[in-house]
Amino acid sequence: MQWQSNCVACNTKLDNPIISNVGILCRECSRQGLFRKRLIITGITRMKDDRVCVSGIDPETWRFVRPVYPIGGYLTRDFIMIGTRRSVIHFDVVEMEFTNYKPDQIHHTEDWLINERFTPKYIGHYKEENIIKILRYMAVSNLEEAIVAQDSSLFIVDVKRMTRIWHEHYEKFKVRINFEDKSGNLFEGIPATDLLLLAKVRWCVEKKRINYAQEMVRKFNGNQHKYIRISLTRLFRCQYWKQVTGLITVPDFFDGESFADYERRLGGPA
Ligand SMILES: [Zn+2]
Repeated sequence: MQWQSNCVACNTKLDNPIISNVGILCRECSRQGLFRKRLIITGITRMKDDRVCVSGIDPETWRFVRPVYPIGGYLTRDFIMIGTRRSVIHFDVVEMEFTNYKPDQIHHTEDWLINERFTPKYIGHYKEENIIKILRYMAVSNLEEAIVAQDSSLFIVDVKRMTRIWHEHYEKFKVRINFEDKSGNLFEGIPATDLLLLAKVRWCVEKKRINYAQEMVRKFNGNQHKYIRISLTRLFRCQYWKQVTGLITVPDFFDGESFADYERRLGGPA
């Protein structure tokens, strides 16, 4: 829990701050019908039934925002295409419209209901020097500690090193990662749901690049700015499970390519 002292939509200072897991709307915003927001995209992940989960940072409040449909939850792939070929990538800025802030009380405090009638508008892409500033400002160095507060399900983790990455074919194509955060906590076998990482590893496997894992670990650890985005699942079998929802470095770990680029080469989603 933390002090909620600013409006979660417009960032105005509240007259009466309260202690709460979830953000608070000011009086004006709570009467309002629609919220137009620009999001700095930091997550594009695989969900069930070919759906995707997109999330990002609201640069007005510096809080995470996860757009969800009022019915049916997560977004379709078409929703995150810019034109017909390019999909949204990390650190694109996209304008979306929301009908309400709809947080869960535990961990998933970032949900906003999206207005489906408003087509997301591509605004631009952040420059590297600004990405570094955003990462420094938003990152946590101790993931275990950050999770204890239960007021967030999305984290950008400052990472000391990745120790292993591997893939599995069990029910579906999976990628797992071991890593150590800046505070020395070890995390093992964390599954990746980041669409781009999944597609890239699948592409390496297809191309029989047997050393892809060592190459990726070396490339990641060799970067001065290295972060892993972690999301918590909804409550499932009595736990909120960790998932890797992005490998972030500056310059870009994936050289500016999107999941759609790899999926096109692979002939479609896994
Ligand atoms: Zn407000």
